[in-house]
Amino acid sequence: MPVIYKSTFPDVEIPRRSIFTHLLPTNSPYADSLPAFIDAPTGKSVTRGELRDHALRFAYGLTGDKQVLASRGGPQLARGDVVAIFSPNTLSFTLALYGCFAAGVLVSPLNSSYTPHEVSHQIMNSRAKVIVVHPQLLPTLLKGLAAAGFPAEDAQRRIIVANWRENFDSIPTGYTLLDELVNVGKLEREVSFDGRYADETTLLCYSSGTTGLAKGVETTHRNLVSIMCMFPSVFIDVKPEEDKMLGFLPGYHIYGLVKALLYPISRGVATVIIRGFDIEMFSVAIHKYKVSVCAMVPPVILLLAKHPVFEKFDFSHVKLVTSGGAPLGADLTREATARLKKLGSKAVVVQGYGLTETSPTSHYNPMEYWDTKAGTIGPLLPNLEARLVQDDGTDAREGERGELWIRGPSIMKGYLHNATATFNSITPDGWFQTGDIAVRSSDGWYSIVDRKKELIKYKGFQVPPADLEAVLLTHDDIVDSGVIGVYSEKEATELPRAYIVPRAGASVLQSRVEREKFQQDVERWIRGKVARHKYLRGGVVCVEAIPKSAAGKILRKELRARAKKELSGS
Ligand code: AMP
Repeated sequence: MPVIYKSTFPDVEIPRRSIFTHLLPTNSPYADSLPAFIDAPTGKSVTRGELRDHALRFAYGLTGDKQVLASRGGPQLARGDVVAIFSPNTLSFTLALYGCFAAGVLVSPLNSSYTPHEVSHQIMNSRAKVIVVHPQLLPTLLKGLAAAGFPAEDAQRRIIVANWRENFDSIPTGYTLLDELVNVGKLEREVSFDGRYADETTLLCYSSGTTGLAKGVETTHRNLVSIMCMFPSVFIDVKPEEDKMLGFLPGYHIYGLVKALLYPISRGVATVIIRGFDIEMFSVAIHKYKVSVCAMVPPVILLLAKHPVFEKFDFSHVKLVTSGGAPLGADLTREATARLKKLGSKAVVVQGYGLTETSPTSHYNPMEYWDTKAGTIGPLLPNLEARLVQDDGTDAREGERGELWIRGPSIMKGYLHNATATFNSITPDGWFQTGDIAVRSSDGWYSIVDRKKELIKYKGFQVPPADLEAVLLTHDDIVDSGVIGVYSEKEATELPRAYIVPRAGASVLQSRVEREKFQQDVERWIRGKVARHKYLRGGVVCVEAIPKSAAGKILRKELRARAKKELSGS
């Protein structure tokens, strides 16, 4: 008999409607004049009313009777089509996101450090018809579209340059601008996803899941609305007149997208956005805009605990720092909280957990337990159920380890165009298998103790080993490879480390000088091929053979044990 743990919180009601209707309803309790997003680098902002109005305008320009791209020979868009966004966090990003929600088209955000090859994979896999792009990323996008087989003229007609509320020194000519798109008309109201239509997909973030290459995670309107409704049970009660949240986590990862670009809107609170992590800009944004709630990742929490730069800034209004995306230990939790106190803040650091596939948060440690339950991921959110399943298929007993399985309304619909991966990750009765090993205490707090799946996380970003292994095999002098993660205490993150079998075989392996040179060459070579977070910062090591099972599967456990020995110097 399965042992099913229900959330310790009472279920909450989850309306069946579109995420747009949920966040920006015409009868909202929050005034239109409240700020929605503030762009820290430029100081420009957009109110809730403007966001709604312009999103409906964007939706019209994209899918209405006078579609701008279609009128210029580009693709015709309708409900259910896919639009990619390739941009760091800007006001244009927020407009494109809400505009797509309003238009009923799916959004697929691309990591803004992707190389053309990675862009092309996601565009082809998601079948995106149109791409909204930050002007600086246009050259990468064009190469990516060429690699995906789009002739130059066709590619040009699919692009919208994201220049809304921006002053760029120069804007590339010959492309449709976001500013033009919002000026042709306005949808009377957003496309409805009431009732059973709430189960339609609205978002396609990419995740490798437990194995293989990045896959499109089908997140539905209901998934997103459910997280908006479930999260207040565990989260601090934020208020428009008191609070501001920080949006430095990128909107192209579901953690940043939900925590900074959607959740604050559901509570009437403004988000201060910055374009990625720059320690100075990050501190200035918190200081200048009196930010009270910040979602972070462990390597940033480490900086917060130690870096002298923060002493120059006022942190007194910070109430809460949330960590997610990767494990945060009890010691660092306490160290960072003590540092915040020294900086004049009463804030505490708490940890949440989840996956792209769980939209994303499934567990969160309420603020009052920040110390007594430090290092845990907290209890299950309401409306969710969990199991801890052992390798033999039986459920773990109290205090025992097992793979964490989760069921409930925030679990993705499946992986896009990939029935096999969906079948392998969600059981017929709805249990999503996380690939993480957890234990549960008798009072319902969970801790992640290991990871069963292949995934490596560098500073909260996914590094699928299969992805790096495929790239390494394109090197003329490499015949086989195996990639694992090694943990760096110094940086509070895992680092990808590659084991490679050189084509030259014995000769490279025998000469230390030659071997080290080859390893360094490969480490440099990969930088031209993959996004920054996938660089082989954990090292490259030449070996004679990659350990494999009889079925040809890489024995990563053996590689991990080997790395442990090598890195401890024994
Ligand atoms: P992603 O889909 O990119 O959000 O990655 C999800 C994975 O990140 C999880 O399956 C975990 O392996 C890891 N993860 C996220 N949050 C935590 C946490 N608080 N503790 C441990 N691992 C985490």
